[in-house]
Amino acid sequence: MQPFFLQLKLILPLCCVSLIWLVSTSFSLGVCQQQSSRQFRPLSVPALKKTIKQLKPINELLGEPQPGQWLAQQKESGQSFSEYLRSRPLTLTPARHTLYVQPIGNFNPSQQEIIKLSSEYLSIYFSCPVKILDPQSEDEIPATAKRIHPTQGNHQLLTSHLLEKQLAPKLPPNAFALIAFTASDLWPGDGWNFVFGYASFRERVGVWSLSRFGDPASDPESFRRCLERTCKLATHETGHMFSIKHCTRYACNMQGSNSLQESDSQPVHLCPECHAKIIFATQADPVKRIDNLISFSHRHGLKQEIEFLQKAKKILDD
Ligand SMILES: [Zn+2]
Ligand SMILES: [Zn+2]
Repeated sequence: MQPFFLQLKLILPLCCVSLIWLVSTSFSLGVCQQQSSRQFRPLSVPALKKTIKQLKPINELLGEPQPGQWLAQQKESGQSFSEYLRSRPLTLTPARHTLYVQPIGNFNPSQQEIIKLSSEYLSIYFSCPVKILDPQSEDEIPATAKRIHPTQGNHQLLTSHLLEKQLAPKLPPNAFALIAFTASDLWPGDGWNFVFGYASFRERVGVWSLSRFGDPASDPESFRRCLERTCKLATHETGHMFSIKHCTRYACNMQGSNSLQESDSQPVHLCPECHAKIIFATQADPVKRIDNLISFSHRHGLKQEIEFLQKAKKILDD
């Protein structure tokens, strides 16, 4: 078994891959959609570059990374909005405009609610429909793709099987991406202990686990923390599917993370450069998006986000 930090070092790059989701409480087919009938004219690239300058003052620049943090171990150069544009990024298109969520296995009522709310958050964050598919039973997964961890004793599912056999063949034609969620733990193969998630950008499919985000049924704060972690993971990984690289300059949801502790210290909101990328990729109305994020954050206790979002809204409103 590898040392813990090595597990994380190897694991997190994989976490930086894909994703989405949701689920109605009953796990029936559901759709969340924002801005279905907008009159908004998408911002031009010059207008987006102007918003970067306007939003800069309210954003926190990163200092030197501390030992053990992502940037202390990974040499990444970051990605400006201009560099992002030159990379010919994947964006929503008239043909591929919906995020699909595939629940796999059993979820308790609190976990079902976490998935439902996270899907709503994804829909706001990326200003697109999120569609929840009927759940798949773990009975459909062969024994060769399941195991009990040899020392930790927890039930795990094999990520490569889920991506290649369960998800990729079912990618809907109008899907921007298909993301699976499971309450079971995940492992990617021999030599690995676990991963939080795994995805294929090329195939536009991913799978993510709630199993290490705490028990949302234990008390209200545990529910809030699990929701915040799930929303953060879902939006970070989906951001990668939109061709956004890790952020190295600002406190931002697109920072890399070496551990749950480091991820907990990072915001859910985006820095000005990544904000411009998302608005470009989704053609969203940035003011309406922020209004919806503020409303969600108030309703579900994401208090740390509200002050920043209100400052951003004031700037974007002017
Ligand atoms: Zn990442
Ligand atoms: Zn950023």
